[in-house]
This record gives sequence, structure tokens and C-alpha cells, in this order.
Amino acid sequence: MLPTLRRQLASAAALPRAVSRASGNPVRSNWLRGEVQQVWDTPLMELVFKAASVHRMFHDPERIQLCTLMNIKTGGCLEDCSYCSQSSKHKGTLTKATPLVQLDPVIQAAREAKANGSTRFCMGAAWRGLEGRKRGFERILDMVREVRGMGMEVCTTLGMLTPDQARQLKNAGLSAYNHNLDTSREYYPSVITTRSYDDRLATLQAVRDAGIKVCSGGILGLGEKDEDRVGLIWEVGRLPEHPESFPVNTLVPIPGTPMENNEPVPVHTVIRTIATARIVMPKTIIRLAAGRHTFTETEQMMAFMAGANAIFTGEKMLTTPCSGWDDDKAMLSRWGLRGLRSFEDAEGNKVDEKFVQVEQGGEAVLTPEAMKTIEAQ
Ligand code: SF4
Repeated sequence: MLPTLRRQLASAAALPRAVSRASGNPVRSNWLRGEVQQVWDTPLMELVFKAASVHRMFHDPERIQLCTLMNIKTGGCLEDCSYCSQSSKHKGTLTKATPLVQLDPVIQAAREAKANGSTRFCMGAAWRGLEGRKRGFERILDMVREVRGMGMEVCTTLGMLTPDQARQLKNAGLSAYNHNLDTSREYYPSVITTRSYDDRLATLQAVRDAGIKVCSGGILGLGEKDEDRVGLIWEVGRLPEHPESFPVNTLVPIPGTPMENNEPVPVHTVIRTIATARIVMPKTIIRLAAGRHTFTETEQMMAFMAGANAIFTGEKMLTTPCSGWDDDKAMLSRWGLRGLRSFEDAEGNKVDEKFVQVEQGGEAVLTPEAMKTIEAQ
């Protein structure tokens, strides 16, 4: 039996019936908010166990993807995201605006990231969108071609996109596009006023329509409540196709921003968010993103246990600190974890449809053949 399948079946056998038959392993886009809330409210250790079991059915639990994020254009952004030091609206921050970087430093940084084991290279530009940036966009398309040509997954975050811009990025070889929903629809206006939740969803639609994978997650510690965390997971969990990637960021308060004095988010909230997202979106790669450097090694391992399976590593993550490659590689090796080599590995983790089927209404259940195989073991 293939190792992935063996793991899926072993996990399924370990699942309480209520999980394997109802909320545990389905790939559903019809989640009700109350159902997501119910998952969230599960006692934490039980929730982590369920999430870890679901995780093993869809992913290799020994693999964590290393990703590197490069800021290709810093500061001077016209949006007013309250957490961000790159907004031109927050005059008290120390971030200085810089022009779009040239192609060569990007190639160099991507080569270095690849040599250190990163299989995904993300590029972020601090601006509202690409309107009026024809030459800059052409340079970004070259960046995408070059990085993709190195065999890495390539992701960009460039603000709002039109369908045509999305198509051009796809043609250049873009693997994924990051555009975070950040928080629930209700809390969103307390964080950002220059762009609506529906604007964000329209960009995600353009990305998906162009055939680019969607990366969309949130930030914890914005002053939101648990119901907003549930609201965020519910919003992404009911997209027509779940995001391929769901980054979980924790706020790194930056002096001069309106959120500079926000309380840190407790680690059990981060773990609960990851575990709930893992159950709601079983196939998605969950990225432990900004703020990871504030967690202890054991806390990070709890996050991996709960279903996180990617980290950002390198020198910096946009304008916030990041753990370095050497430290991360040593940490993963202490816990018997390895880097995810490329997206082909993730393909190999696809659930075997002979054993899991999605029923009408969106629930996935084990087929009679799977149950027979489990019982025979
Ligand atoms: S988060 Fe992005 S869009 Fe918002 S202000 Fe910062 S750079 Fe601009």
C-alpha cells in the first residue's frame, strides 16, 4: 500500500466516528457559520487531535514547506491597513518608500532561497494595485518568469488585480497570488477603510478565474474577537474552491501604526485558529506566517501538530523579523520534520478518491472499500 494511503487509512481508523463521518475530512464549500463555530468551540486538545487526524489524511505530516518572502517595493502605499507600516497614511512609522527593485536582486534572492531549501518564493509590493504601472508590471512579469524557471513555486502579492492582469501573471508562470481577507467581514472596516471586503473577494475571483492558485488568510491580534476568527475561516471555507494556501499571521505591532499598542494574541488562539482551519479546509496548505519568531519551538510544534505545514523563513518577512534558514532547518530536524520539496509532493498527498468520496451536500465520507481495508488491518 502506498505510504500516503496507509497514513490516510490509519488516520481514518483513529478518528472518532463523528469526525470521520461528518466534520472531519470533508472538502466542503457549504459550511454554515454555526458549524465552523462548533468546530472552534471544541475543547482545545480534542480539537488538535481531530485536526491532526484530518491533516494526516491529506498531507504528509513529516513535511513542512519552507517559503521565502521578498519585499520588492517598500512603503508609500495608499491603503490604510491599520497594522501596516507601509501605509502612507501612518505618518509616524520609520518605513521609507522605495522604488520597485530591479530584476537581478530578485534572481539573486530567489537563488539563495532555493539553495537554502525554500520551494516557494513570494514577492510583495506595497501598493493598492497595478493601475498606471505598465513598466513596473512588465518587470514583475519578468521576475515571475525567472523564478518559475528555477523550478520554484512563485507567488506575488501586488494589491488588487483585474482579470486581464491576472491572466498576464498566469501566462508568465505565476503559481499563486496572495490577497488576505485579514479578518471577518464585520470586523474588516475597523481595520481597513480604503478598500472593501468585496473588493478583496473580486480580486480572489479574478485570480481563480485565471487559473492561479489562491493564497488568502488572516491576521490575529487586530483587536478582533473569536467570532471574527470564525468568520474569517468561514468566508474562505465557503469559497467555490478552498484557497490552496491559508497564511495565519499574528500581529507584530509596529510603532507609528494605529495598532502599535495592541495586546499580543495568546498562542492557544493561534493553535485553535490553525486547527479549525485544518478541519474546514483539509487540503489547504496552512502557513505559519508573520509573528512566528515570537513563538517558542514547542509552540511552533503544536502549530504543526494542529495542521500548519508551511513557514516563512529567511532574513525578513516584509518589514517584520523572521527566523533564519539555519535555525529553522535545525529546529525541523530536531523534531523529525523535513522540507516539502516542491508542489509535486503536495500532488502526491491528494486523497485517493477510491477511499474518500464527497457526497451530495459536500460531505466527504470513507467509501465501503476504505472501511473494508481498515477493518482488515
Ligand atoms: S498591507 Fe499591503 S495594502 Fe495594506 S497598507 Fe500595507 S502594503 Fe498597503
